Amino acid sequence: MSDLAQFLPWHEQLATSWLSDRERFAHAWLIHGLPGIGKRQFALAAAGSLLCESPIQGIACGHCAACLWLASGNHPDLRRIRPEAMAMEEGASASGGEDEGDAASSASKKAPSKDIRIDQLRGLTSWFNTATHRGGWRVAVLYPAQAMNHISANALLKVLEEPPEHTVFLLVADAPDRLLPTLVSRCRRMPLPVPDKSHSMSWLEGQGVNRAEEWLASAGGAPLLALQISKTNENPCPEWLAQLISPLARAQVPDIGPVADQLEKIPPEIWIDTLQRLVLDLLLAAANAPVRYFPALERQTRLAAGHASPVGLAEAAKWLAQQRATASHPLNAKLLVHATLQRLMIACGKAV
Ligand SMILES: [Zn+2]
Repeated sequence: MSDLAQFLPWHEQLATSWLSDRERFAHAWLIHGLPGIGKRQFALAAAGSLLCESPIQGIACGHCAACLWLASGNHPDLRRIRPEAMAMEEGASASGGEDEGDAASSASKKAPSKDIRIDQLRGLTSWFNTATHRGGWRVAVLYPAQAMNHISANALLKVLEEPPEHTVFLLVADAPDRLLPTLVSRCRRMPLPVPDKSHSMSWLEGQGVNRAEEWLASAGGAPLLALQISKTNENPCPEWLAQLISPLARAQVPDIGPVADQLEKIPPEIWIDTLQRLVLDLLLAAANAPVRYFPALERQTRLAAGHASPVGLAEAAKWLAQQRATASHPLNAKLLVHATLQRLMIACGKAV
């Protein structure tokens, strides 16, 4: 069985109790929780378990015909509905496989779409009208649900208002409040919590991650995110962050020139993510709560927060989130670095 079809260790117990009761299983579920905790893997493993012909305590057996089909990526009763760009990242074959209709094959001419498009949902109609292959269920896994625009969300809503027989929809989303409320109200909710630290630590160590505890903290406790940033960053607490926060802790203006030089060499989405986490730590410290992301800088963060304006920090957080949305192609990387650092200085009571 491929890795994707298995539950992560921190989800096994929840999955067993959820999937054991198939009698009144809802036809649409919204699986939601923080980014980086394994929601997509949970949904795909659940799909595999629902399709398995001899599940063990509700979980896929890994050996039956359905499980073998699933492992080969060709189960006819499973559809993944995801943006074309994500399908390519996940290594979908050009012929589509489990993907909906022709979505993956139309990618040749223009840049792959980051949205779930309406034709991907329309393409499901013929699938609904085909008998399931072995008389069981069909399962549609849709992720991330926030990639649906208003038109595709409405198309899905129409489907869920008159649900096709023997069909289960598993929608995956970071934040249900960003989805169409009428769509959310059609789904049963399956909130996934942040896994406990011991589970996450042993999983990260099993993946060969050194300094697992620091990476996990820097990812806010989300183990898959921790693994990802451990691969794209050199240090769970970058040197330049200390260069920035240490003078602020002493109520001095940092020399932002050398910091800016370093940031210009890093992809913007990475350093903006890091600064977003720093600002959240500053906000926590300003509220006398323990810091969450950079425990190694707790002392300096606490002192810097003492000189900062909570309103200014909240504004900086909002501004960073806006920049993050367009960060993969900034008009001018140097300008973005300087503008960002200046905003942070102002929020920390240090106009430059
Ligand atoms: Zn099976």
